[in-house]
Amino acid sequence: MSRQSSGIRFLIDATEGESRRLSVGIEIKGPFTSSNLTMHFPRWVPGSYFLREPIQHMTDFIATDQAGNALAANRKDVDAMRIKLSSDTTSVMLTYQLLAVNLSVRANHLDTTHLHMMPPFTWFMPTEGIDSSRMNMEHIVELHSPKGWTPATQYTSSGSRSGKGELTSNQGTTHCFTSPNRDEFLDAIIECNPNPMDSWVVDGRTHHLKLWDSGGHEVDAGMLERFKEDMDKVVKEHHALFGIPAWDNYVTVIHLTENMRGGLEHLNSQTSMLPRQCLIPGHEDEYRDLVSLYSHEYLHQWNVKRLRPRNFLDYDLQREGHSDLLWWFEGGTSWLGDMLCVRSGAWSEEDWRKDFMRKMKRHTARHGMETESLAESSHDAWIHLYRGHAFSRETQISYYLEGELALMQLDSELRRRSKGEVGVCDLAAELCRKHALEYEGVERLGVTYKDIRRTLTSMKGGRQLGSMLDALMHDRKAPDMEATMDFFGLNLVAENPLKEGEEKHGWLGVNLSAKGGKVTVTSHLAGSPIRHCVMPSDEIVAVNGVRTSSMNALKTSLKGKAGSEVKLMVSHEGMLHEHTVEIVSAPQHGVKLEGKGNARWRAYIATRQTQ
Ligand SMILES: [Zn+2]
Repeated sequence: MSRQSSGIRFLIDATEGESRRLSVGIEIKGPFTSSNLTMHFPRWVPGSYFLREPIQHMTDFIATDQAGNALAANRKDVDAMRIKLSSDTTSVMLTYQLLAVNLSVRANHLDTTHLHMMPPFTWFMPTEGIDSSRMNMEHIVELHSPKGWTPATQYTSSGSRSGKGELTSNQGTTHCFTSPNRDEFLDAIIECNPNPMDSWVVDGRTHHLKLWDSGGHEVDAGMLERFKEDMDKVVKEHHALFGIPAWDNYVTVIHLTENMRGGLEHLNSQTSMLPRQCLIPGHEDEYRDLVSLYSHEYLHQWNVKRLRPRNFLDYDLQREGHSDLLWWFEGGTSWLGDMLCVRSGAWSEEDWRKDFMRKMKRHTARHGMETESLAESSHDAWIHLYRGHAFSRETQISYYLEGELALMQLDSELRRRSKGEVGVCDLAAELCRKHALEYEGVERLGVTYKDIRRTLTSMKGGRQLGSMLDALMHDRKAPDMEATMDFFGLNLVAENPLKEGEEKHGWLGVNLSAKGGKVTVTSHLAGSPIRHCVMPSDEIVAVNGVRTSSMNALKTSLKGKAGSEVKLMVSHEGMLHEHTVEIVSAPQHGVKLEGKGNARWRAYIATRQTQ
């Protein structure tokens, strides 16, 4: 059965990569319902809670009618265009140029080697002038690319043709697609480049992998094979928990870069960006990160895409949409994504422990959890998370990291009370069965805090856990990781415990940057002995009169100084000041797991795959 057409074609032309500008077109056929056609440019993309105002990259806007005659068009508000129609307008064509230079999973990027395109960063959406129900009909998408480039996208292909492009008249290939409705149209990506696409089947579902390297580095074939095998393991472990998805085709786009990192989930696809070392042999930490990021974004197909906060069911991309539950959707995805890595065997237990220590070091270095709860942090994502500054972590938390640790605490308690029968992973799967899109027979689409709480307290062992969940979400307090790991027979110890008689190094408790012979403070850590007198951007010029022009020089000058007074010469706003401070030794936070773990631990990290 063919779907009803929206009468709208969305066009892009990527054949002028050297200009870094994408040519864009939107053709809208009548009937029109008003004498004005108003078009709004989305202001944000789902998954990234920040108004990015992509309309800022647009130039050369032209509107014409079916005969090619210009139509009057004016800017409206910060995010819209209004086009004047006449009574005999039967079709409108809008064209414009879009600068695409932002190398990020959250933006368009075009050069002579590839295109990464996100629909909300590319096309206006009609908001006045046509029947709004048309947006939920089938749209046509056409991409004109240089010859030899092939697209990876969750859109459905409807063929391709060679020849001139409609927007630029350049020779190339026009790739044609359809998308069934507004949600699937907006929540997609197209990555188009000359690299081959790998496609294969896991559990009866087709996976597509498309790579691009920002500098043209060739990927190591052995590492690529290793990654594909680990993708299979991770995918199967997800399916063992959530069941094989009812939807087919999943597209993974990997961008390999000099030093950029990030990931963004879409309904049936992900773009994950990592430093290219992750696929160069011998870089185990970076490879571990790649597997983790892949698993995290893959898990978002369920957690946040199908299982959504109820007020995210119909995204309004023109204004901020708040949720107090981002700690569940991001922290939960980080925690469970990594659990599924170790359960699947794509990560070894050692991988999990190393990554857990990395997280615990971040957790113990800052103290924002005494001033911001998970609910507050989630709600304020729009004004906090993407607007970090030197003092952020003193009063704010990351709902990713702290949400993850809070859910681990809840998980160990649920396992204790259910005698190991169920955990928070089962809660996530149950919430999908009750509230997720594309599931049969759900109770009600979309999830609220009450739904999570009610589902938890109706699980085996969960009856008394409602107040614990309330406290974890609303209290300004760090989760109890000692008790959490104790349940699994594991101890948290210092990374490098001081040995008997060992010289104690002085610790300033600051993050530093060293450039051009200057050591500069960038932020404070929890418990810093110089928090009151040395500020971010201050340069540490000398310790006890000895110049500290490198990290090494500073480190040497603090050798054996713990417990004693030192004179710090600091340049603040270009003026020299001397401070006498009592230096301490670095706090010995419990960040590293010690011990083999008990039977509960082994069950926790064991695969749930049955074959
Ligand atoms: Zn995420």
